[in-house]
Amino acid sequence: MNTTKTKDRPVIRLAPVAAGEFSQWLGDTERALEDGGAGADVPCGSCTSCCHSRMFIHIRPHEKETLKAIPRPLLFQVPGLPKGHVLMGYNDKGSCPMLVDNKCTIYAVRPQTCRDYDCRIFAATGVPVDAALQPEIAEQIKAWRFEYRDEASHSAHESLIRTARFLRERSDLFPRGSLPGNPVQFAVLVVRVHRLFDAAGGEGAGERMSDAEVAKNVLARLNAPSEQAGPRGRDAAR
Ligand code: SF4
Ligand code: SF4
Repeated sequence: MNTTKTKDRPVIRLAPVAAGEFSQWLGDTERALEDGGAGADVPCGSCTSCCHSRMFIHIRPHEKETLKAIPRPLLFQVPGLPKGHVLMGYNDKGSCPMLVDNKCTIYAVRPQTCRDYDCRIFAATGVPVDAALQPEIAEQIKAWRFEYRDEASHSAHESLIRTARFLRERSDLFPRGSLPGNPVQFAVLVVRVHRLFDAAGGEGAGERMSDAEVAKNVLARLNAPSEQAGPRGRDAAR
């Protein structure tokens, strides 16, 4: 993701915002990552922070109605992806050019990338965004509060946090470039491998594997054919 510093909008400290029940969120997110295309049902309220947070939006070739609605000069080919995969950038204020008067002018046909974006994934995994570049999203992340229906729901949240910490702290066990640097992709990876991580080395997994063995299992999962398409989500090609 290319980013530039522009004149910042004032960042308002937010009161806590209900993020929903954790296990429910996790199950929905895992299914959405497997199936793709369902979009995320985020209780955004009046927040439009991700529409003016200096992001590049990936639009895929099959999104014909979306592509028709966006002026061609705003789109450019995604480097390294097949022809037809395009990115839409942002204006000098860091906002999406389709955002007018704080409203999405192509809402009915907005990109799938926008439909998939769910900033609760950062609250769920503890993966930070760059608060200097995306201060409003960082504030929104701090405001989310999950509910927990039972102990298993609490444990699932702890599992995601533990997995993210392991991937960060033991990045030396992974080949250079195999772990994503982009926060959205990193958080998506955490959601994708946390059950594997728990089974291999988490609490209650019986005999604990060494960190190197855990990393090997995570890598095997990353290299499985089903994972080769790469993580989906609004930030996937930024
Ligand atoms: S930053 Fe989060 S809450 Fe705000 S619009 Fe984007 S996804 Fe919704
Ligand atoms: S296309 Fe619409 S939803 Fe997507 S970033 Fe732009 S204004 Fe926001």
